[in-house]
Amino acid sequence: MEARRGEVTVVGAGLVGTLAAMFLARRGYDVTVYEGRPDPRKVAPPSANSINLTIARRGWNALQAVGAHTAVERVCVRQTGRYIHLEDGKVGFQPYGDNGETIYCVQRIHLHHALLTVAEEDPRIHFRFNHRCTHVDLDRGSLTFTHHDATGPVQVQSARVLATDGASSVVRRAFLALAGTQYFQHHSPCLYKELTVPNRPRPGVTPLAGNAVHIWPRGEALMLAFPNMGGSFTCGLMLPFLGEVSFSALDTPQAFLDLMRRSCPDLLALMPDAVVEFFSRPVLMLGSMRCHPWVHDGRVALMGDAAHGMVPFLGQGMNAGFEDCHVLDQCLAACDDNWAAALAAWQSRRKPACDAVTELSEQHFQELSVRARNPRFLLQKKVEQRIHRLFPDRFTPVFNLLTFTDLPYERIAEQGARQEAILQRVMGTPRLEALVDGPQLDDVIRAAILTPA
Ligand code: FAD
Repeated sequence: MEARRGEVTVVGAGLVGTLAAMFLARRGYDVTVYEGRPDPRKVAPPSANSINLTIARRGWNALQAVGAHTAVERVCVRQTGRYIHLEDGKVGFQPYGDNGETIYCVQRIHLHHALLTVAEEDPRIHFRFNHRCTHVDLDRGSLTFTHHDATGPVQVQSARVLATDGASSVVRRAFLALAGTQYFQHHSPCLYKELTVPNRPRPGVTPLAGNAVHIWPRGEALMLAFPNMGGSFTCGLMLPFLGEVSFSALDTPQAFLDLMRRSCPDLLALMPDAVVEFFSRPVLMLGSMRCHPWVHDGRVALMGDAAHGMVPFLGQGMNAGFEDCHVLDQCLAACDDNWAAALAAWQSRRKPACDAVTELSEQHFQELSVRARNPRFLLQKKVEQRIHRLFPDRFTPVFNLLTFTDLPYERIAEQGARQEAILQRVMGTPRLEALVDGPQLDDVIRAAILTPA
């Protein structure tokens, strides 16, 4: 164990706060984590939602660095690619790559339990559940918590605070009161609701193939199904709030069933509880959030969703938060645990990275919902894979760079823009459909790669 280095207060024992506590404890800090809710292993969280998360390479690297990956792997399913269900009933499989690339897919609740259990084994980490932060004095480093057993508010004075209290962060609210803080929030027109495919085979109905995500791209409506341990699937229905095809328009069981029969009849046949679930589950808002600065006075920092919010279409929000923790650990090591220097270095590395992935996530929604339903999109995916096979060092699909590498997000965004120009030059080739399965396509690709932009 490292020498004792002092105390750190973490606000929020969600996914990022729990991992941050593990990194800090391994460096020798005594960490107290205050969480507004009860311990989720004892009292189930109020929402019926069981969001599925995909863990990318960078998230996995962070879990490995603290030795939590073994416990997490036990609750994950491995995904090898995506099935696209087209409107004409055809289904196409797109593997993530030729080299056995897989993504870990996990239900948030299972991941959370696994992380808390691993963290709790470290005697330097102390969880204080049912402590909701209600007030923050950034200059004094003082935090106020409410706790139902306490006779009054609990006051905490701390020299170092990490705020991992999520998208509605109370600590961030205190930052916003400071002169010069920048804040930008964008609500996606698209909202989200979860439904389930239970693991109950239905006579005469083809089950969904496991170990892959399934996508029904239908313009305004987008349905995704993620595999769970035990054979069930968690589905995410994404729709605008208002309009002809929207959550507001689905105000009767008939309207909901009509949409499902039109958009994904194969899926509806596997969902005996779809109507009950649709009318009893909450609709989640999705959106992006950027703010600056993330660090106050070299002592208080925002991290994870408290610092950056992104739409979930690339599955990077938690991964970015896990990478925040990993990079902070590296900065503390490089700065000899001088917090002011380490937090400044951390912010200058992470801010451009998280801005870039927030932007990429917004762009990806168009690809998933609109472009993926166009048969030409499948052609484009084939071409993309072919360019990658011919020039693996110069062209890798952005999704693969984000998911299977730990390249900085801002470098992936730059590489993605260069690759898109090449891809569009190839896609502009006359009668491309006739060439795509033959050797001539390789010549077209070589010419596009060698043509200066
Ligand atoms: P949270 O998980 O929100 O945790 C914050 C914690 O702080 C909570 O425990 C909360 O109770 C506590 N808290 C809040 N306020 C207070 C307070 N005042 N006092 C004390 N405690 C407080 N990301 C991926 O990487 N991959 C995916 O595939 C993916 N899919 C997603 C799908 C959907 C539909 C959504 C909505 C998100 C998805 N994400 C995904 C994003 C991911 O869920 C978040 O980025 C991640 O949960 C952020 O973790 P966090 O710890 O920063 O915040």
